[in-house]
Amino acid sequence: MTEIAERPIDMTTPGEELGRVSHWIGGRLVEGTSGRQGPVFNPATGRQEKWVDLASVEEVNAAVAAAEAAFPAWRATSLSRRTEILFRIRNLVDQHRKEIAALLTAEHGKVPSDALGEVARGLENLEFATGIPHLMKGGYSEQVSGGIDVYNIRQPLGVVAGITPFNFPAMVPMWMFGNAIACGNCFILKPSEKDPSASLYIAELLHEAGVPDGVFNVVQGDKVAVDRILEHPVIKAVSFVGSTPIAKYIYETGTRAGKRVQALGGAKNHMIVLPDADIDMAADAAVSAAYGSSGERCMAVSVVVAVGDVGDSLVAAIKERLPKINVGPGSDSASEMGPLVTREHRDKVASYLDKATEAGATVVEDGRQAPIYGEDGFYLGVSLIDNVQPDHESYRNEIFGPVLEVMRVGTYDDAVKLVNDNPYGNGTAIFTRDGGAAHQFQFEVQAGMVGINVPIPVPVAYYSFGGWKDSLFGDLNMYGPEGVQFYTRSKVVTSRWPDPGTSKVDLGFPRTR
Ligand code: NAD
Repeated sequence: MTEIAERPIDMTTPGEELGRVSHWIGGRLVEGTSGRQGPVFNPATGRQEKWVDLASVEEVNAAVAAAEAAFPAWRATSLSRRTEILFRIRNLVDQHRKEIAALLTAEHGKVPSDALGEVARGLENLEFATGIPHLMKGGYSEQVSGGIDVYNIRQPLGVVAGITPFNFPAMVPMWMFGNAIACGNCFILKPSEKDPSASLYIAELLHEAGVPDGVFNVVQGDKVAVDRILEHPVIKAVSFVGSTPIAKYIYETGTRAGKRVQALGGAKNHMIVLPDADIDMAADAAVSAAYGSSGERCMAVSVVVAVGDVGDSLVAAIKERLPKINVGPGSDSASEMGPLVTREHRDKVASYLDKATEAGATVVEDGRQAPIYGEDGFYLGVSLIDNVQPDHESYRNEIFGPVLEVMRVGTYDDAVKLVNDNPYGNGTAIFTRDGGAAHQFQFEVQAGMVGINVPIPVPVAYYSFGGWKDSLFGDLNMYGPEGVQFYTRSKVVTSRWPDPGTSKVDLGFPRTR
């Protein structure tokens, strides 16, 4: 397996110009029969390149049936064999980083360095999953009562599903499926219909790695597929990553149907800059974290909170850096920031600039002035808005684009109040040289992931990822140790080996002393 073009997936139906992205069910590519398809664009050119099949209820049922049939043998497969397969998956993804990244650039629009970064972070989750023999260990207590031992074992749930967003078409699936299948589950992935090809490519790699047919399936689709996943009685757990309204819907609908659900939602990540911070370092961090991947990251910094008198110098330092950002297609090696994912999303992001002006904020840099804004691709230049207030619409909503907002507050306490009053609680960061302030911040801030002089504190794979408040619905975070917990359930065994000499009838409640 070398180049994408040589891969066996034939995305083109004879006689049709556009490629076609289909399902992966039971270890093979399965063309959709629902009669419904969605367009897949190249955001850099604005042209539609492919159609993606949108699954019907029956097609989801077929994937569930394949997964259900594969489960008994897969859960009985030895840990050692599963580990070997996980290592092979890890190595194949590593070998094919560039091919996966190319698919991300082609359909999401992110530039190659960013796409390779996405694959690298996803790979770390697969590496974590190779440690599954250690991660699945239970506990053992000897002689809890006379001749009685108690131990717990962790067992897979059965068929589980993952529903993923457009902004990380490779990494977020890797957050989920490595741990899920390592634990002995069979997995159904429903990727974003905006950039579906990476999921199929990964399915092929898993097949090549020796994952048995039916253990990993991909159903392409929209709400029809999602709703069937949520109500299908065989599916025991659903992992979701996406926007807050859908996350809430997934959590409520899935749990009502008796499923275990972890649903990660949107974000508004604040970066607090205290007066003692190194302004150049803070400006570099803010610009990198706000505009990387065109701001289409759930951990992007979207609001800088300037404390005390730091506002003017910080805004000047950020502004100075903006003209140097190269916005362009991923095919140009000079590009640092690509287009947004769709024209509709680009226009929605841009609309917040007018709303901010109407509300009385100051648009310091308007991305619509960038020459590339007029081109066919879904581009928007970088934007900077100063003097934003908590009641502004641009602040109350997740913009999810290359727009950085600046809010000015008097004190550290005002800054923390702003973060804690915000309905989202994904990531946050503080920039300071004051260890005491940083320590107090980590103690009292209401967010799931905190950076101290680190603007995008995405946890490494051996911790777990998750926000607070409207950024996560459910009890367990994604990937890492909590991921293993999510995809397994505990069984406690109380055991005594027969000793006929001490056996007697006793109707009292069992006691340990
Ligand atoms: P989205 O919520 O629109 O879509 C996510 C998934 O849900 C997709 O697979 C989509 O097909 C499906 N979906 C969309 N509408 C649906 C509906 N009405 N009913 C059922 N299913 C539906 O999110 P998106 O636009 O693809 O991704 C961007 C969002 O994801 C942002 O809000 C971002 O903050 C969030 N996100 C969060 C995290 C996190 O870890 N918290 C990570 C990445 C992205």
